[in-house]
Amino acid sequence: MTAIQLLTNVAQLVTPAGVGASRGRDMRALDITRDAAIAISDGQVIWCGPRREWTGAADVETDAGWCAVVPGLVDPHTHAVWGGDRLADFESRASGVSYESTLAAGGGIRHTVACTTASDTDALLQATWQRVRRMTRAGATTIEIKSGYGFTLEHELRQLAVVRALAALVPATLVPTMLFHLPPRDAVARVDWMQAAVFEWMPAIRDAAVGSVDVFIEQDAFSVAEAGELLRAARAQGLQCKAHTDQFNALGGTELAIAHDALSVDHLEASGPAQIAAIAASRTVGVLLPGVTLHLRMAAADGRALIDAGAVVAVGTDCNPGSSPLFSMSLAMALAVRLNGLTPAEALTACTANGATALGLSDRGRIVPGSRADFLVLRSADWRDLPYTLGDDAVARVFIAGIETS
Ligand SMILES: [Zn+2]
Repeated sequence: MTAIQLLTNVAQLVTPAGVGASRGRDMRALDITRDAAIAISDGQVIWCGPRREWTGAADVETDAGWCAVVPGLVDPHTHAVWGGDRLADFESRASGVSYESTLAAGGGIRHTVACTTASDTDALLQATWQRVRRMTRAGATTIEIKSGYGFTLEHELRQLAVVRALAALVPATLVPTMLFHLPPRDAVARVDWMQAAVFEWMPAIRDAAVGSVDVFIEQDAFSVAEAGELLRAARAQGLQCKAHTDQFNALGGTELAIAHDALSVDHLEASGPAQIAAIAASRTVGVLLPGVTLHLRMAAADGRALIDAGAVVAVGTDCNPGSSPLFSMSLAMALAVRLNGLTPAEALTACTANGATALGLSDRGRIVPGSRADFLVLRSADWRDLPYTLGDDAVARVFIAGIETS
């Protein structure tokens, strides 16, 4: 008989209604229980409901201090393994240099690639560990981390090995993704590189126990045709797909990714009615990244139109050194309300149940019997303080698989 922990004195227990992906305006439906309790055993929720209805015995009682409790946040999009910094880019952008100009001039991401490949593995692991700790403190209990700053198979696999090593050391679930970020600039080298990516990289990625592949589809990155080759090769190896699409230009990447049954299409700032309709008609999740909108002062993705069209929408931090130095899913949720037009309830669903769907995970994102006991105790008795609060720490305590993290 395993021990039962009972979380009591919960002012509000708040969780997205329904099961699986929450679509369109159904994202507003929350189940809210006042004066609730949650029973946990073996890292899972075994019961939850009004406190007075609990009739079982508990080995341990944990007092939530009459605060609201919500599911642990799921961040489906980060680039948290990097070396060096981009403080000079930040300063020059604030002086009027555009992100595209920085990319085209060989700065920006190429600087991060040089610093990341030059870092020793222990230094990369230490730096990433610190970032994951900050993300967890702000409420993220599941975090996707992409490679993409290696550009060679050896260095991409090294970044993914850092994620896997770290996953064994931290309480949060870390989900590694191989990102095809930028192709070689030389046209001849690019053709050979694509051949290697399709025939050599994909089997190696599968053998490295990485479940999914992401491709950055943009004018200065991979073309739709190249991305099609990569995604087809990934699917042939049994890998899941996702893509960075419509960040600056709607080139057809969203439609391509959906055709490959992608888990998610991420960014969507330049998506028009055709792309929004395509996402809404699919089971692919549209992932909004409001940190980029804030940091680069770009147009925001039209989250309101996506949800009104019936899409499944999630939110991520896109934590990365160049375009979104955002470590807090709580703040990403708050920004999705201000910048992407989500209601507070839609934003909570986007950051929990739908984030899990964007990672292909069905065991989390809600507080229901059978789910992982990943949840947050807020500082407030009203859950709406979480998306309402800007820049303060609305999350008081983080529980992962039923265990409080420090
Ligand atoms: Zn990204």
